[in-house]
Amino acid sequence: MQSVFDKRKEELNEFNEALDKLNIRKKDEPLLQKQVPDDLMAKCVSCGRLIVKEDLLSNLNVCPFCNSHFRLTPKERLSQILDGDYQILFDNLEEKYTDFPDYEDKLKEAKASTETDEAIVCAKGKINGITVLIGVMNSYFMMGSMGSVTGEKVTLLAEKAYEENLPLIIFTCSGGARMQEGIISLMQMAKTSAAIAKVREKGLYIAVLTDPTTGGVSASFASLADITLAEPNALIGFAGKRVIERTIKETLPKEFQTAEFNLEKGYIDKIVDRKDMKQTLALLLKLHRYN
Ligand SMILES: [Zn+2]
Repeated sequence: MQSVFDKRKEELNEFNEALDKLNIRKKDEPLLQKQVPDDLMAKCVSCGRLIVKEDLLSNLNVCPFCNSHFRLTPKERLSQILDGDYQILFDNLEEKYTDFPDYEDKLKEAKASTETDEAIVCAKGKINGITVLIGVMNSYFMMGSMGSVTGEKVTLLAEKAYEENLPLIIFTCSGGARMQEGIISLMQMAKTSAAIAKVREKGLYIAVLTDPTTGGVSASFASLADITLAEPNALIGFAGKRVIERTIKETLPKEFQTAEFNLEKGYIDKIVDRKDMKQTLALLLKLHRYN
């Protein structure tokens, strides 16, 4: 085998010498590959095509080839949906249930890397001049898992919507309950559901389900809205597809747990492209006599 490699090396050297003699390649030209800066291009996880980052940003982080909606940070989402300045709410809450091994370190890491304090950012702002209370979950913060502070923030936001008679909008995105907080995280499902029920007594609650909305969040406030919107192709479900297949011993369709599948089954009212989201929300608010 070694002799084959040696022979191949010899042939390559001969070939390079021949090229040099022909003077096709400029002698002093470096043989370095052209370097493309890392932050210039992005690869679509859905279709695999390369996209110039600048084009991706101007297209609201949606793939121009396949319409795949990339995940957003709360900051990006708020700037796409709200008119301009907005007020961040409830950002001074601290977790109390941090006994689980390494949980405190993980929290610190998540806070530092996302520059936010929890898996949801709450704000008061305006959509086409209409004042709203808005919550945006963050998949980059421990996969948007719902801990006690996440639940407390959703509850406080809902209570504020009730007290101030303002419409409530929540962009959900979550891997489920935060396992490090055990039963406390599961309790957030009941707590947020009770607060949302109160909002709906007299106000409007719109949920926008983004990729992925699963577990305890999908089983609580994500599923309790007056109007449920979703982004195209978002993964929406409770347990994982394979877990369900093993439990019911059936093969589920390929499109199972997509926004489109949920729309067909009546769980979602409308799938809205990101470019139309702000106008759709504004229209729904106007139809419900908010101004
Ligand atoms: Zn794509």
